[in-house]
Amino acid sequence: MRTKTCVQCGLEEQAGEFVGAFCPKCAINDDELFRLTKTIRLVQCPRCERIRIANAWHEESNELLRDLAVSKLKSRHDIEDAKLVMAKKVRNVWTIELRVQLSVDGKSLDKRVTVPLQLEKKPCEECKKMASGYHEAILQLRGSADIVQQTAMKMQRIIEKESLVTKIETRREGMDLFVADKHTAMKLVMNIHRPYQATRKLKGIKQGKHHFITTICIRL
Ligand SMILES: [Zn+2]
Ligand SMILES: [Zn+2]
Repeated sequence: MRTKTCVQCGLEEQAGEFVGAFCPKCAINDDELFRLTKTIRLVQCPRCERIRIANAWHEESNELLRDLAVSKLKSRHDIEDAKLVMAKKVRNVWTIELRVQLSVDGKSLDKRVTVPLQLEKKPCEECKKMASGYHEAILQLRGSADIVQQTAMKMQRIIEKESLVTKIETRREGMDLFVADKHTAMKLVMNIHRPYQATRKLKGIKQGKHHFITTICIRL
């Protein structure tokens, strides 16, 4: 029977371990296994460090970095598995090291791949609002200092599940919470079942839109 010899290094096949025309060693070093698509610029918020993918912001995680790195690999072979070996960030570049398992001519090949991900810093919408103290509603909590303090903390936690408290002001008569989204503020007020008074004031006109501020005074 004719034995195969590696077209790259001339090694003879022993027991069907060759991958196509290559010995396993040369197969792994084959530059044609895959290529990297040109650098994708990722947008990351400098404040909350979330990463934007298709207009949604995601928490930075090893899983996310792995998926992003894998998405940059182009191969005519199937990528069966990819594990994150290391992720290192230096300034605005993430260096992602993957262990990729490729299926080449019916054989599994393990290959280490280093993928650079270029980051561009841009604040997300929430952080932008935060930075500017943007608010559509002010919750004025009035009552004894203890209760006001406790309630303010509780409210902030609830609000920040869907919006942001962009500023907190402590006053002699209580505390003011500045809330980025008025619907979130209103919903919360409805749920606490306390007497309140709401007023709406025109703050100004921004890009042709009226910007109202709803002030809600709550007796605790
Ligand atoms: Zn070889
Ligand atoms: Zn952010």
